Amino acid sequence: MNPAWEVAEGSVYRMRRQHPCGGWEWRVLRTGADIGLECTTCQRRVELERRKFESRVKALVRNDQ
Ligand SMILES: [Zn+2]
Repeated sequence: MNPAWEVAEGSVYRMRRQHPCGGWEWRVLRTGADIGLECTTCQRRVELERRKFESRVKALVRNDQ
């Protein structure tokens, strides 16, 4: 994806790798130097460095803003 894209809270992203629960999509809970994410399938929460997040994202699924 374009490195200049903005990560918006509430947006849902599809990742390149499947979560162990079987889900692919994550909702952004918090943005900043780290990105807070919640799996939309199992509701597990994680934090990723922005750079890691950007490298793992495949596509924006939905932008709620
Ligand atoms: Zn999950």
